[in-house]
Amino acid sequence: MSRAKLEKLGLHLPLFPTTSVGSFPKPDYLARARADFSKKKITAAELNQLERKATAFWIDTQEKLGVDVLVDGEMYRGDMVAYFAERIPGFTQGGLVRSYGNRYYHKPIITGEVTWPGPLTVDWWSYAQSLTSRPVKGMLTGAYTIMDWSFNEFYPDRAATAFALAALVRKEVEALIAAGCRIIQVDEPALSVRPAELPIAIEAMRRTTEGLDAYFITHACYGAFEYIYPGMLDLPVDNFDLEMSNSDLDLLALFRRFPFTKDISFGVVDVHSHHLEDSSQVRRRVEEALSILPRENIWVDPDCGLKTRTVEEATDKLRVCVEAALEFRRRDAAAAAS
Ligand SMILES: [Zn+2]
Repeated sequence: MSRAKLEKLGLHLPLFPTTSVGSFPKPDYLARARADFSKKKITAAELNQLERKATAFWIDTQEKLGVDVLVDGEMYRGDMVAYFAERIPGFTQGGLVRSYGNRYYHKPIITGEVTWPGPLTVDWWSYAQSLTSRPVKGMLTGAYTIMDWSFNEFYPDRAATAFALAALVRKEVEALIAAGCRIIQVDEPALSVRPAELPIAIEAMRRTTEGLDAYFITHACYGAFEYIYPGMLDLPVDNFDLEMSNSDLDLLALFRRFPFTKDISFGVVDVHSHHLEDSSQVRRRVEEALSILPRENIWVDPDCGLKTRTVEEATDKLRVCVEAALEFRRRDAAAAAS
């Protein structure tokens, strides 16, 4: 069904389309420039030039590897919620809180009505898309996750907060579509954090995407899916991008019990490990996917964003994804010919 939707949007993707979840590592010159910018040693325009240079590098890298659906790599983002919160009226920057390990971030606080300030990501998407003839995904953080990762001092409850944010994210989706974007990923890494709130996340996504003409993907990091599956299949998106490999594909056991009904971007390499999977390991993972999911529904990508890897590791991990997809396309063509 979703393949037909892709075709209708003019997207003629091969079987086992390859993509990536969103973030790539920042080259050293950009990491240095971001530090210099925070110390006011360089201007915003100088930083922007280097972010564009790094974006162009990653578009070129993905093209050379043969990735089918590209991302801009998020060279301009620090954190996936803070990037939006810093630009949305109604948010105030909060104090430092610990996210995981020794990483700290400023947890944003909602202190007033959140409103859409105009396009937040469209310039970056347009720039990235201008560099390639392959489709580039629009990349947004979903309303439920922005709500969950912020403090709220304004709206009456978490649902009202998520829905106010959904109205705003929808405007960004509309702006991306107006610019020509046809595949939009609305990330919800917080999806499984509070299973009782799944209906809020679903309603927020409905308000974000309903009636809009694009192919929607959502990424959720590994979590307590056993508590929200199969209910999470009601999320109104075409494709679930899931972290499968980090957990030895244990989600497949759930899919055996309750059929998975959407397209899936099937994570075949672990992004948390320096270890590079060899092609046979990645091929085995795709074979496992094929044992329970229709081949037309399977996309191939890394588990999650690659921003914590080195540039070389990220490139190598993408390469094994593409090699696996090519191998399964060859097998499919051979089977069709025989
Ligand atoms: Zn993730």
